[in-house]
Amino acid sequence: MDWTRLSKLSAKEIRKLQETKLRTLLAEQIPLSRYYRALFERERIDPRNVRTIEDFRKLPFTSKKDLLPTDENPERSLEFILRPEPKLLREHWPRMRLLGLLARGRAGAIARLEREYRPMFATFTTGRSAASIPFLYSKRDVEVLQAAAARLLSVHGLTREDRLVNLFPYAPHLAFWATALGGLETGSFVLGTGGGRVMGSAATVRLIQKFKASGLVGVPGFVYHCLRRGKEAGAAFSQVRTVILGAEKLPDALRRRIRETLAEMGAKDVAVIGTYGFTEARMAWGECRGGEGGGYHLYPDLAFLEIVDPETGEPRGPGEDGEIVFTPLEGRATTVMRYRTGDLSKGGIVEEPCPSCGRTVPRLSSAIGRKSNVADLRLVKVKGTLVSLDAVAAVLGSFKEVEEWQVELRRANGDPYGLDELVVYAALGNGTPPEAFAARLREAMREACEVAPNRVEVLPLPELLERLGMETEMKEKRFVDLRPKE
Ligand SMILES: [Zn+2]
Repeated sequence: MDWTRLSKLSAKEIRKLQETKLRTLLAEQIPLSRYYRALFERERIDPRNVRTIEDFRKLPFTSKKDLLPTDENPERSLEFILRPEPKLLREHWPRMRLLGLLARGRAGAIARLEREYRPMFATFTTGRSAASIPFLYSKRDVEVLQAAAARLLSVHGLTREDRLVNLFPYAPHLAFWATALGGLETGSFVLGTGGGRVMGSAATVRLIQKFKASGLVGVPGFVYHCLRRGKEAGAAFSQVRTVILGAEKLPDALRRRIRETLAEMGAKDVAVIGTYGFTEARMAWGECRGGEGGGYHLYPDLAFLEIVDPETGEPRGPGEDGEIVFTPLEGRATTVMRYRTGDLSKGGIVEEPCPSCGRTVPRLSSAIGRKSNVADLRLVKVKGTLVSLDAVAAVLGSFKEVEEWQVELRRANGDPYGLDELVVYAALGNGTPPEAFAARLREAMREACEVAPNRVEVLPLPELLERLGMETEMKEKRFVDLRPKE
């Protein structure tokens, strides 16, 4: 549906649209998946009985562990691919749809099914689990991603006149491709640098100037790194008006710092906007311009998002906290249904029109954290205390004099059975006395995280950037856990 029209629908119209789409998904698409056919048979679910959103919200969840390879089935994620076998189509598609498919003869039908279902592109999950899972796209899925990415750019208030530099690492990951494809769809100029490992920050700074980029898109840490390099080099970035950040959590302190650095470089009133997306969704959402922190604007015709109790899985109401659950409404190829993201939303999904732009599409609160799972790296046990790495990052980000930092977890004296040690490496702005800083940091961390660093080591900025792998790694190494795996 046309995005402008969709952005004005009432909550009631949106609900009706989503119910219709969910019914079609369950009746005509989900049965083409081997995984869901088996699941529905096992659980005795007849998808034709699902009529309303409430019915849909009683269906079983899917989670990452359902996709992970097992010894018997090393390519389990392939079971989630929709395969339009003639027998299944005859069984599940309405007569009219089958006749429509055959209207241009057998060859025409095959061409249409290929375009709709045949996998021709993939992005991978980056997760910390050893197995990264490919999510496949058909030609049609790529077009959906393209349309969603174009909407993202329009929500951000970008126009065809904008020139974007895409700083996301060149890889089969959603962020890079969503940005590249979004530009192809809108016709905006988008130049992909491939990120730090491909091009490095010095060349990136030159390109931003050469092409007079008005928008920068990338991972928060690396975008900030390039701005700092640009500032040091005396680059003029006054034409930058939008910074779009994704793929990682955007701490408030970093958002502020990016805006301040750009202001020092002559760029005033810059919108620093966050996005939310994940491989399994094969799309991403963004905050609107002027509505920083005001929630990600959803595409209700392309995906159904819900919030559930992270413990019981019970549905949560509008505006309530809970885990984000995802169902694509137009997905083909690798399709998951009621997928538990493990992401926790504070403030959930609201239906009121956006106070900044007036769009009526539902908004997912900007405050998203990871589920409190001990196995997750965001929450680690240090010296017997559970420590949230997000909280550690927030403390370090709150120190204005800290240019860059890295946290290392290790065992004392390298002894595998020794005590845990938490070491903070920091590069400080000019003139900060290291001892005084270390004392204040210890105090602040003890207060906010219940654990103080064993050692605070102040390093020159280039050395710290090297440690982080800012120019050499796909992803900066902000937290390093050197302790032996248990
Ligand atoms: Zn808005």
